[in-house]
Amino acid sequence: KEATDLNTICDEYLRLSYHGLRAKDKSFNAILNTDFDDTIGKVNLIPQDFGRVILNLLTNAFYAVNERKHLNEENYKPTVSIATKKEKDEIIIRISDNGNGIPEEIKAKIFQPFFTTKPTGKGTGLGLSMSYDIIKKGHNGELKVESKENEGTIFTILLPV
Ligand code: ADP
Ligand code: MG
Repeated sequence: KEATDLNTICDEYLRLSYHGLRAKDKSFNAILNTDFDDTIGKVNLIPQDFGRVILNLLTNAFYAVNERKHLNEENYKPTVSIATKKEKDEIIIRISDNGNGIPEEIKAKIFQPFFTTKPTGKGTGLGLSMSYDIIKKGHNGELKVESKENEGTIFTILLPV
């Protein structure tokens, strides 16, 4: 583990993943929101592993808003947000989207290896199971999800200080 500037990692991955998608698909657009707690200071974590988690959660979020876009709802503004916050004994990182959401009946399965709802070639189903292990086993933290179909999804990472 290394003392890492968490806010910078989050900000860079948000922009990198968005611009990567835009490079492949010029018609893809999303509003990016950030809300960084600048009292966090450096956080002890494994930067490469933590980066993979953030990247996977963001990739899922962009995919989800893109799916909802296909519904052609009026005034739909695809939005992906990332926020950090320091509390007494934990750091909270929240990645949220207003995408297609996760149906109740599959919520229990999304952290299982190889579970995916994406077509072949678009998803391996390994992102969330890997992310769960990195946060839980690698950082002694927690990864939680809240979601509503056609409203959006919030993934919350809790890291002990
Ligand atoms: P993959 O992205 O390869 O499908 P993941 O493990 O990252 O694998 O995600 C598993 C499944 O969880 C996805 O196929 C999707 O059904 C669901 N999911 C994950 N994140 C989101 C999200 N932000 N919005 C809607 N569904 C999601
Ligand atoms: Mg994924």
